[in-house]
Amino acid sequence: MNIGIIDADLLDNGTRHPNLALMKISGYMKEMGHDTSLLLNYNDVYNYEKIYMSKVFSFTDVPLDYRQFPDIEYGGTGFFEDGGENLPQDIEHHMPDYQLYDPYIAAKVAQGAKPNTYSDYVDYSIGFTTRGCFRKCDFCVNKKYNHVFRHSPLTEFLDKNRKYIYLWDDNIMGYNKWHEVFDELEATGKYFQFRQGLDIRLMTDEKAKRLKTLKYKGDFIFAFDHIQDKELIQSKLKLWRKHINKTTKLYVLCSFDSTNTYDETFWVSDIINTFERIKILMQFGCLPYIMRYERYKTSPYRGMYINLGRWCNQPNIFKKMSFNNFVDRNQELAKTPRPCSAKRYADSFRLRYPNVAQKYYDLRFEDLNQYK
Ligand code: SF4
Repeated sequence: MNIGIIDADLLDNGTRHPNLALMKISGYMKEMGHDTSLLLNYNDVYNYEKIYMSKVFSFTDVPLDYRQFPDIEYGGTGFFEDGGENLPQDIEHHMPDYQLYDPYIAAKVAQGAKPNTYSDYVDYSIGFTTRGCFRKCDFCVNKKYNHVFRHSPLTEFLDKNRKYIYLWDDNIMGYNKWHEVFDELEATGKYFQFRQGLDIRLMTDEKAKRLKTLKYKGDFIFAFDHIQDKELIQSKLKLWRKHINKTTKLYVLCSFDSTNTYDETFWVSDIINTFERIKILMQFGCLPYIMRYERYKTSPYRGMYINLGRWCNQPNIFKKMSFNNFVDRNQELAKTPRPCSAKRYADSFRLRYPNVAQKYYDLRFEDLNQYK
């Protein structure tokens, strides 16, 4: 059969990550003797006997009446909130087709894109060593399972010719045999990283010591989603810093309310507790990465969320400047006596909540960091 593969996210906005499910489908189908091709646009769909399509993001546009389309199978969290049906076992555990995206990359490079833009596609072996997470955070699509369990041995997706490994495990820290996974990773001799972030709340001395000895690629990334976890996160960061002084980032989720009560009280307390989490991270020499839930766009303080993201998510700025410094710098760069947008947002919030501004606007990473 002549099989067409559609990575709908790729065709809509482009994406940095290859679609692992599609790579596995392609690998399996090739082994069954079929031809597979990644579609570079939707015009070609009628040239294939069978189509497999996937998307990760619900906002990805699919300009195809796929429900009426003959011989198409589609899946992924972009179509089904829980990801839809699992792939059949033979496909799920098949070696991904690491060549699937080659024609796409070649076309992009020929158009002038830098080859290293596609590092995720060409330099990494990709897979899940474990799956599942027991936490069921309200904002997370990952609710299919109640525990963390072993999914694949590394050999199932390891391409020895690829320099690095990245893993999509949902919560490796929650797996009771985590050390077996780390042993396998170590035995490859390759640098690796977990892309979903690690659960700092499950950090132990043993895990931190082990992570210190491993070839972990890039920054360590955790999450600090709820201010209610403040004491726990502080104690875990203290433990972490006993062993590791490498750059550590924490996702800071904001503008999300699990009770769906988006009123003035929520918005103000959300901004206060976002600042408070930033302050705690400064104290541990960690970098916040602001994750704005889409709902921020409806907030009367939408501009404050934009400011917080622009300030924190640029480490070089965040490490040197307080929130006030950042706003002033924006004003300088605007080269106009009229207040720039960053200044307007910060000033109007200060006007309504001067105590909050006084408490947080001047905090500086350099001053608070106890782990220089
Ligand atoms: S801990 Fe992470 S993977 Fe688990 S439910 Fe929460 S956000 Fe999702």
